[in-house]
Parts: sequence; C-alpha cells; structure tokens
Amino acid sequence: MQVEREIESDVLVIGGGMAGLFAAIKAKEEGSEVVLVDKNYVSRSGSTCFAEGDYSVFSTEWGHDLASWLDRVRVSGEYLNDPEWTEITLKDSIERYRDLLRMGVRAKEKEGGDILTYTRPGFGPLECCFLGRGWTFLPALRREASKRGVTIVDRVMVTDLILEDGVVAGACGFHTRTAEFYVFPAKAVVLCTGNGTFDMAGAMAPVSFLSYDGIAMAYRAGAEIGGMEFSCVGAAAFVAERDEKARIDVSGRTIHMAPAHYPAWVSYGPHISFNLDNYVDAEGFRVSRLTAPHAIHEGRGPILWVLDAARPEDLEATLRDIRDSRTTFRLERVGIDLAKGGVYAGVLRLESTPGHLIFGGGAGVVSKDKACATSLPGLYAGGDTCYTRAVGASYPAFGFGLRNASVTGARAGKAAALFSWKRGRISIDKERLRRVREYVYGPLERKGGFDPRWVHLQLQNLVTPYYALIIKRGDRLQAFLTIVEFLRDHISPKLLARDAHSLRLCHEARNRILALEMMLRSSLARTESRGIHYREDFPSRVDPYWLALVKIRGEGEMRVFREPIPEDYWPDMSEEYRKRYPMRFPGEDRALCEKD
Ligand SMILES: Cc1cc2nc3c(=O)[nH]c(=O)nc-3n(C[C@H](O)[C@H](O)[C@H](O)COP(=O)(O)OP(=O)(O)OC[C@H]3O[C@@H](n4cnc5c(N)ncnc54)[C@H](O)[C@@H]3O)c2cc1C
Repeated sequence: MQVEREIESDVLVIGGGMAGLFAAIKAKEEGSEVVLVDKNYVSRSGSTCFAEGDYSVFSTEWGHDLASWLDRVRVSGEYLNDPEWTEITLKDSIERYRDLLRMGVRAKEKEGGDILTYTRPGFGPLECCFLGRGWTFLPALRREASKRGVTIVDRVMVTDLILEDGVVAGACGFHTRTAEFYVFPAKAVVLCTGNGTFDMAGAMAPVSFLSYDGIAMAYRAGAEIGGMEFSCVGAAAFVAERDEKARIDVSGRTIHMAPAHYPAWVSYGPHISFNLDNYVDAEGFRVSRLTAPHAIHEGRGPILWVLDAARPEDLEATLRDIRDSRTTFRLERVGIDLAKGGVYAGVLRLESTPGHLIFGGGAGVVSKDKACATSLPGLYAGGDTCYTRAVGASYPAFGFGLRNASVTGARAGKAAALFSWKRGRISIDKERLRRVREYVYGPLERKGGFDPRWVHLQLQNLVTPYYALIIKRGDRLQAFLTIVEFLRDHISPKLLARDAHSLRLCHEARNRILALEMMLRSSLARTESRGIHYREDFPSRVDPYWLALVKIRGEGEMRVFREPIPEDYWPDMSEEYRKRYPMRFPGEDRALCEKD
C-alpha cells in the first residue's frame, strides 16, 4: 500500500510553466492559499523552459496598431479565432510584460536602451521582443511565487481530477520518484499542463515529457475539448508558386547529408532556419516549410538546403544571432560551415511531430468565458492547455505562445481564487478516492502486461509519417483510428509498471492514446481544409458550413460535434474566395472549379 499525502488549498494549479506560475502568483495576490504542482521541477520544465524567447507584447506606446494586428490574426487563422479573446490577449500583454519586469525579467535592448522589437518574414505587423531562452527567465517567476507564499510541489504527476457533486474538488497523482500517492483537495483547480508530443525528434523534441495530461484528465472528468484537428506540428501542405527565375540548379553539386537526429530548428540554434530559409525541391524550385510537404508528397523530395544561395545579410544576421545567443551552437559538429556554404539534405525533415503548432489557445480544454473557466464548475485552464481561440486555424506569429500563457494563466488564477471564496471546506469521498487510487496504481499491481515504452513506439510509428497528420485523408485517418482504438481498448488496460518512473510512462501513454484519438476524430469530422489542417479528399475551405468548431465530449464514448461560430465573426462572404484565403491548398483550384 502506497503512503498517502494530502495537501489542501483554495486553489490548486497543475503545471508550472509560464501559465501555471502566472496563475499561482495571481491567485495568491487575491489572498488564496495556493499549491502549485508539477511532474518535473518548476522552472526547469515545460515548453516555456525550452522556448526560444520571443514574447509578443502589444502596446500603442510602441507604435502598434490594434486593427492591423487583429486583422492579421483573423486572416492567418482563417476566421476561426475568437476576436474578443484575441483582443484580450493583445491588450493584457503590456501588463503581463510589466509584471515580468517587476520580477526581474529583462527583454533584450537596442543600443541606446530601447527595447528591441522585431518581426519575422511573413508575419506582417506582429512584433515581439526577446526575453532570452525560457530557462534563463523562469527561475525569476519561481522565486516570485515562493516569495509570495505559494506552496510548490515538484515531481508529482497529477493523473486525475476529483469531482464532488459535479464540481471539481481537487486532484490526485503520485510522486515520480517514490510513487507516493498525493491527494490535493482544492476549492478550485487551474490546469496549466501545456500541450503534448509523442516523444520524438523534431521541433518538439525538448518537451518530450509533455503528454496532453491536462487535456486527457479534463476529458475524462467530462470537460469539453476543442481544436484537436489543428494539434500538429509539421506545418501544412500548401502549393508553392513555381518561380522559374528563382530556380536554383543543384545538378552536379555535392549533396551533404545532415544527420537526421539533428533537427534544424532545435539544435542549430535560434533563428537559423528562418533567416536562411533557402529550401528547394529536387527540381530546384524554392519551397518553404509550408509548401515542402506537398513537394515531397508529389515525389519531388528530398528537400535540399542551399546554404550558399543565402543572402549575405541573412548569413550575417544568423552569425550575429549565434554569437548573441546563449545556446551552444552545434552546426559545425554536423559538418555544416555557414561561411563555406554547400548543399545539404536532411536539414528540413518531413515528419508530423504532433503537439500543438497552435501554441497560444488554438486547441485544448474549451474556455467558456473570458476568465478561462471550463465547462466543469471549479475547473479553469491556462496556457497551451486552454482553448480560448485567441488564435485560429494556424499559429499567427512568434511570441504568441508565451504571451498567451502569461495572459490566460493570470486570468485563470484570479478567476479560480474568486470561485474558491464561494466554497466551504472540501472533503473528498473515501470510496471515490479508493477507486481512483486503484486506477492510478493498476499498472504497478499487475503481474504481467505491456511495457509503456513499447506503446510509445507504436504511437510514434503511427504519427510520424507525413501522410498521417500533415497530409490527411479520410480512409487513412480511419485506418489509424482503428489501430488507436485497439491500443485504447486492448493495450491501455494492460500496461505494466515496475517502478515509479515506468508508472509515469504508463499514464503518459494512456493520455497520448486518448489525445491521438481526439486528433484523428476531429480531423475526420472537419471535412474541409483550413489553416494547418489539410485534407487531400476535401482540399478547399467550405464556407459557411465549416466556419465552425469541432468539439469533443466524453459521453460513454467520444462524441464529436460541430459548433458554428457567430456570423459576426465570418469573413466578408461577398469577397472573392482567393481574397479571403490567399494560401492555396494542393488540389483546391480543381475542386473549386468542379463545384462551380
Ligand atoms: C521548442 C519550443 C520553442 C518555443 N519558442 C517559443 C517562443 O520563442 N515564443 C513563444 O511565444 N512561444 C514559444 N513556444 C511556445 C511556448 O513555449 C508555449 O506556448 C508556452 O510556453 C506554454 O506555456 P504553458 O505554461 O502553457 O505550458 P508549459 O510551459 O509547457 O508548462 C506545462 C507544465 O506542466 C507540467 N505538467 C504537465 N503534465 C503534468 C501533470 N500531469 N502533472 C503535473 N505537472 C504536469 C510540465 O512539467 C510543465 O512544467 C515554443 C515551444 C517550443 C516547444
């Protein structure tokens, strides 16, 4: 029998990244007793810790224009964002930035002392500033939370929410080193567990420990989930405009192979792949991260990185970034010499690495109001766990993830504190707790079963191929779903743990299976293409039918439903289609012609 520890609070915050730390600090400001629990070590975990450091602050004092920012998010999100939420996250951002300054976090300055603000190619007016890599500024937030009296509990994985009479009354989990059982009775709970990955190389590699835990536990408790068809890193498959003049002839050139386990984005240092975006297909036509999947699908791979076609100013900017960054730069280790140039294959790899590309509120637990309350009374969500729809069907620009996490975390923390005032002391039914405990420790009690690492491999095999979640099609999605249902029904109940660590892997595997089912079902439901969701069999946007959200609820089985967005948020339907949607999906023009 595992030892049981009980830690009571007014507000329990689960997850200690940017959102969770802001939630805890703001709930404490309201006078609540706050507990912040993380399955790793708060300030050394989460996407926040590994974020590059772009932080989007909107401020008219910095010369920003609200209308153009809102318009940009709306068009790039293909009209699925909630403009009220977008505006909130923009307008609150300056206050959260000032909070960060008060905590001792500093944004990079220009010579002369002004804050350095910048945008990246293709992101229009959406600027950000630079806070430095997440691990450099997160400790300041942890210190602030501790100073204010937040109780921080490291290395406890929360597995389940506990409800009493339909209201969230806390959560439980276990210590990831000792396997001790933890119960957290709480008057309100804020979920800030980030998003998820399938633990593999690629853009999300550093956050392999994120496994959709919050989304899965909220779903199991009965909360509404949304936007999961957009939950995939790997960009979309748009058509590249073939510019004969910009064609680069690489015939006869030596092609160097960059080792596959060195994904460009993560290991080669900040900003390199954006400044030096010189990718061509096998025929020498330029492609981008957005258009490369289609080129490969058409048999024009591998994508080559033509370093010596880079503009000198981009090379110089990259070298400057490398010098200024605190990241160990590893290009030379894999034989790439920026100064010498060369043609490389394997730098831009084509895999779906599911995890929200939609950082910043584009998928997760549905927020039903502007205080981040979910459909379950007593449960709030912030950061990447929360589906506010501050962004729409694609990630609008760098800096939106951290900004959104700070804004929604702060709002959720404050609202949870206010909610907690209305409740008396929480007592959790012993029989309910016994059942949850049985579920939590099931894999440890079993004598035989499936190793969770093997299950992770099965999941990776499913989600890695580009034809799973980058270029989607109904029959393939259905085939993947059949396998996921098998994993859910046959394998998941028989997972085997030998110790606290493998118990953690078991719960992560369960949550990933559930999240993948959500992604596949939502992708099947959305019978159109929009943003980063591309369906080969439905290659165009379908207005107004799919000016709608795909939501999920657990009602015995997973129920998927369509919810139209208010007409006020529709694009101008009298405007020509291509004006509404400047990006072309492969096969879209033909499909539109046939419809006409
Ligand atoms: C490589 C990378 C680079 C990025 N760069 C940028 C950037 O430059 N600018 C930008 O704006 N955005 C960036 N993003 C996105 C941004 O980092 C996220 O949107 C943001 O940090 C999310 O913060 P969060 O607090 O919601 O979640 P996270 O920071 O992911 O925190 C979640 C926390 O919850 C904990 N947790 C998870 N499950 C459990 C559980 N079951 N029990 C207890 N604790 C749990 C985790 O350990 C973690 O500490 C980047 C993301 C990645 C992956």
